[in-house]
Amino acid sequence: MNTEATPAVGIDLGTTFSMLARLDDKGRPITLVNAEGERSTPSVVRFDNEDVVVGREALKAMATEPVKVADCSKRDMGNRVYHKVINGKQYPPEVIGAFILNKLRLDATAQTGPFTKVVITVPAYFDEVRRKATQDAGYMAGFEVLDIINEPTSAAIAFGFHHGFTSEEKTDRSHRVMVYDLGGGTFDVTVMEIRGSNYITLATDGDVQLGGYDWDQRLVDLVADAFIRQHFSDPREDPVTAGRLWRECEDAKRTLSTRPKASVPCDYHGFSSRIEIQREQFEEATQDLLDRTRFTMTQALKAAGLQWTDLDRVLLTGGSTRMPMVRAMVRQIAGKEPDTSVAADEAVAHGAALRAGLLIDKSRGKAPAFQIRNVNSHSLGVVGIDPSTKRRRNGILIPRNTPIPVTTKRNFKTHKPNQRSILVEVVEGENP
Ligand code: ADP
Ligand code: MG
Repeated sequence: MNTEATPAVGIDLGTTFSMLARLDDKGRPITLVNAEGERSTPSVVRFDNEDVVVGREALKAMATEPVKVADCSKRDMGNRVYHKVINGKQYPPEVIGAFILNKLRLDATAQTGPFTKVVITVPAYFDEVRRKATQDAGYMAGFEVLDIINEPTSAAIAFGFHHGFTSEEKTDRSHRVMVYDLGGGTFDVTVMEIRGSNYITLATDGDVQLGGYDWDQRLVDLVADAFIRQHFSDPREDPVTAGRLWRECEDAKRTLSTRPKASVPCDYHGFSSRIEIQREQFEEATQDLLDRTRFTMTQALKAAGLQWTDLDRVLLTGGSTRMPMVRAMVRQIAGKEPDTSVAADEAVAHGAALRAGLLIDKSRGKAPAFQIRNVNSHSLGVVGIDPSTKRRRNGILIPRNTPIPVTTKRNFKTHKPNQRSILVEVVEGENP
């Protein structure tokens, strides 16, 4: 079998945008464009009876027929059904994910020929249920999922590859890096040590309900408030107007990353306005969101047992790190210029492709070019009865941020003497 027959493919299944990368014949990651000629595909699906459209067209439909469109399904991963009923149907989030993956598969197949082996990335903060759902989405899309890896690890691998850490000569020095990933719907921060070709996660933390989408919403509110002051009616009341307004605001947000102001068109109830928003105003309205990311960074650093001065670099990934407010905050708190050497939105897919290449090589008996050591992002425990309170409680066996694989032991007593059977409930999370 040659490499052409089994391309090493990595997929970044993002909340708002997804991307597919493969290794070229020299083993370098490249992003493949989709059928529309774009490097990233909106993770949006439009359902119209038998007709399912994914990507740019579906995103457009958000403004005209939002009831038929599923977006941000990644936020619901692990739940039984997607939060919105679509055409009277309830879809499991992994089914929506599978449609997105299938589109990526079809578009890539046109360029590489058929392939099935892929590595898919997930936020480090995803628990087992969400990881499993992501894996199922992959299987439903016809993939053989070689591995599910953490997005920050993936970004760090792409970064390490870019700087040549994976080659033999540079294995002497170790680098401590923090990966700050602010995407469309999730925020992740991971502290890693790159020791030659070893990628060791020291600590990870994050927020599955925080991302660029929340910045969009604040901008929508700013515009809507200004519109109400002018015309005494709220454009958010009508779903179609609200959908259009959201798209305009997402656009304006990108403008505000490079310009000091942006103007947002808003038409509702026969009134028409262009609302001007200053960057300062936008930054003020979203300061608390940024503060949440700052707090999480500090927590992760503490969990890794490090000080800011111990870090060699802070890597920024995720489209939302293009906002100047993010860069300024990171520069200020970390005391160094953030590293953006690998394109913010491509690093994750590239790292996944490198990981896929490694696994494919390994299955053919080749020595791996790099290694990954991870930590568990949530505590694992067993439900038992607390002798002091007589109430059910999570007895944590493996605290979060423990390097894995790991084995632990703890004694539990049976409920009564000579008990013949037991039920062991293994739980994930911090809550007692
Ligand atoms: P995810 O992996 O969660 O899908 P991405 O890393 O693709 O997210 O980032 C998508 C988010 O980045 C969106 O919220 C988008 O609005 C935002 N984004 C992309 N480019 C810019 C920019 N230039 N300025 C501000 N936000 C941006
Ligand atoms: Mg992402």
